[in-house]
Amino acid sequence: MSALSGKTAFITAAGQGIGQATALAFAAAGARVVATDVDAAKLDELTSELIRTAALDVLDAAAITRAAADAGPVDILFNCAGFVHQGTLQEATDAEWSFAFELNCRSMFHTMRAFLPGMLARGGGVILNMASVASSLKGVPSRFIYSATKAAVIGMTRSVATDYVTHGVRCNCLCPGTVLTPSLEERITENAQAAGSIDAARAAFVARQPMGRLGSPSEIAALAVYLAGDDAKFITGQAIVIDGGLTL
Ligand code: NAD
Repeated sequence: MSALSGKTAFITAAGQGIGQATALAFAAAGARVVATDVDAAKLDELTSELIRTAALDVLDAAAITRAAADAGPVDILFNCAGFVHQGTLQEATDAEWSFAFELNCRSMFHTMRAFLPGMLARGGGVILNMASVASSLKGVPSRFIYSATKAAVIGMTRSVATDYVTHGVRCNCLCPGTVLTPSLEERITENAQAAGSIDAARAAFVARQPMGRLGSPSEIAALAVYLAGDDAKFITGQAIVIDGGLTL
């Protein structure tokens, strides 16, 4: 039997990158998957026998409530949606701060609030939240707002794990290092001018990884499969680092 057979998973931001890789990995592990993204067109290539797709903007609290009702019983909630703000404290604006906390944190408050009652009613469930090593775990240059939001994700994760530990609900967060996804490609392009070239900007991201390479979305997805499955049923409240040695 596959690791996630008989389970249903709900994923936010599954249109590309780590969310997309995780939707595919969950399905490969036997789960039924509801894969959502604000950009429904990005979900087209995901539709399969085990994967159902739906548009969902995680900034829309009412839409999250409707999506939870439409999804039916869900065993695994993977909150993957998040936005990387690049900049120091002096470069950050109030509007950027508010937007990042809305997207990276409040969205998870709303999805967990929407899916928890169903999990509690059925005696358990698994919540995975996407954090980062750029958080309370590691200072990373020009990640002032981003690190604050991801530290908050770790805090929410520990809090939820604590409050529901006797109810069969496990809540963990994933803390990747630098992973080659479409949004990282955008950040490389944005940094090209300051770095001198695209190649130099890419090399700077690789240089901060002691293993000398970027992570792949499928490597993060494999961790998500493990944490979502019963093999990990003694793990809760943890910020699991998967970073190619960035925090060493
Ligand atoms: P990405 O940034 O390339 O893609 C993000 C996806 O989120 C897109 O499909 C986009 O359409 C969707 N999205 C944007 N706004 C949305 C909204 N309001 N509602 C729903 N979906 C929305 O993907 P990624 O780089 O794999 O990042 C995914 C998560 O992993 C993020 O939380 C990110 O902070 C985190 N993370 C990424 C890295 C990395 O190096 N890529 C490292 C650590 C953590």
